[in-house]
Amino acid sequence: MRSTRFASNAGGMLPALCVSLLAAAPSTAAAQATPAKPTALEASVDKLAKHATVAAAFNALQNDNAWTLDQQATICQIPAPPFKEQARAAEYAKRFRELGVQNVRIDKEGNVIGEIRGNRPGPTLLLAGHLDTVFPEGTDVRVKREGTKLTAPGIGDDCRGLAVVLSVARQVITQKIPFAGKLLVVGNVGEEGPGNLRGMRAIFGGPMRDSIDMFISVDGTGFGITNGGVGSNRYRVHYKGPGGHSYGAFGMPNPMHAMGRAIAKIADLEASTTPKVTFNVGIVSGGTSVNSIPFEAIMEVDLRSETAAALAEIDARLQKALREAVTEEKARWPQSKAALSVVIDTIGLRPAGSTPDSSLIVRTSLAAARTMSIYTPLTISSTDANVPMNLRIPAVTLDGGGRGTGAHSLDESYDDRADGYKGPQYVLLVVMGLLGVK
Ligand SMILES: [Zn+2]
Repeated sequence: MRSTRFASNAGGMLPALCVSLLAAAPSTAAAQATPAKPTALEASVDKLAKHATVAAAFNALQNDNAWTLDQQATICQIPAPPFKEQARAAEYAKRFRELGVQNVRIDKEGNVIGEIRGNRPGPTLLLAGHLDTVFPEGTDVRVKREGTKLTAPGIGDDCRGLAVVLSVARQVITQKIPFAGKLLVVGNVGEEGPGNLRGMRAIFGGPMRDSIDMFISVDGTGFGITNGGVGSNRYRVHYKGPGGHSYGAFGMPNPMHAMGRAIAKIADLEASTTPKVTFNVGIVSGGTSVNSIPFEAIMEVDLRSETAAALAEIDARLQKALREAVTEEKARWPQSKAALSVVIDTIGLRPAGSTPDSSLIVRTSLAAARTMSIYTPLTISSTDANVPMNLRIPAVTLDGGGRGTGAHSLDESYDDRADGYKGPQYVLLVVMGLLGVK
C-alpha cells in the first residue's frame, strides 16, 4: 500500500473531502482539470468514453459490479503473506486463463503475467495489482459482508486492485475493444515492506524491461493518482566489540556508547524540506546486563526522500556518521587494544522517482477523471510504481474506487457504496486512453 501519502495539489485536501466538495460545488473542483474549453487530449478522452465498445464496457462494469466484488472477496480469502503468495498467485493465474488472457505464466519471482493483444501495433502497457499482504500466516482472512461493505485483512490493499485488474481485463476481452499495442496484466509479489518491491524489481530487472512503455499499478481505494515515488534506504547497524565486566574491564571502547555517538550525529543531520528528506532511528537493542560492557549494540535506521539524488546525499552523510562514531569511541580510550567495529546490513532499498505532471500518462489520467467528473489528486507515495519511475518509464499508481479504512490492520474494510464500479471504469478509460482505440 501507499506508506505515505499527501496531496501535491489542491492545498493538501484529503481525497474524501474533495469528493464531497466536488458533489457540493462542481465549480470549485472545476479548477483542477476542467477548463471551460477542453484540451485536445481531454476532448479525445471524452470521445473515447463514447466509443461503442468502451461504453458497453462501462455499462457492463456497472451492471455486473457484483462480479468485481466477488473477485475481490474470494481472492482475499486466499492467504498471501510476504514471500508466501504462491496459492493466491496460482488462483489469480487460473482466473486470467478463464477470462481468455493469453500467455499466462508465473515468473521465477512468483509474479503472474498475462497478455491481451490489441488489433494493431502500438505501445505496451503493464497493468498490475499486488498479491502480497502484510499479514502473517495463520491470520483469519475470512471476509465478512454487510451490504456494500466487506471486512477482512487485505480487502482493500490490495484485493481491490487485483479485482479491478481482473474486471478491466474481462471487459477489454469481452467487448473486443479495438486497441493498439499490448496490455500486460499482472498480479505481482513483494510490494509490502519486507518484499522490498521484489516483484517489480524482477520484472524491470529482466528481459521484459525494454518492452514496457508505460506502467499502472492499481493500489489503494478512493480516487487518486500517485506520480511521485518516495524512495527509502533502511539499515540494521551493529556496533561490535569484545564486551566485558563494567568495572573489571572498564577502559575499553563500548559498542553501546559508540552507537549513542552515532545516534547523536544522526539526530543533528540537516534535512531539506524541498525535496523532502527524512531520517529516523526506529529500533535500538543490545546488551545483556546493567553491569556488562555490551558486545553488541544494534539499531535500525530509515532514510527517505522524494528524489534519488537527495536520498543518496543523506545516505552518504549517514554512512560517514556511523563510521565517525567508531573513530571517536576508539579515540576516547587510546590505551585500549580492544576492537570496535560497525557492520551495516541493508534491510530495504526502495528507489525514488517521479513521473512529471506534464507527462502523457499523468495528463491522460487527469483527463479521464475530468471525463468521469471525479476528483483525483496527484500524490507522492511509495508503491510498485517506484521501480519504473526510477528507470524513467512513465508510471503511476491509481486508486481502485470505493472507500477503504484500516489498511494493514486486522479490521481493514472496503465499502463499495453506490458507485464502486467507477473504480474499474476509470482504470479502463485511462488504459485505453493511453493505448489508443479506433
Ligand atoms: Zn498496497
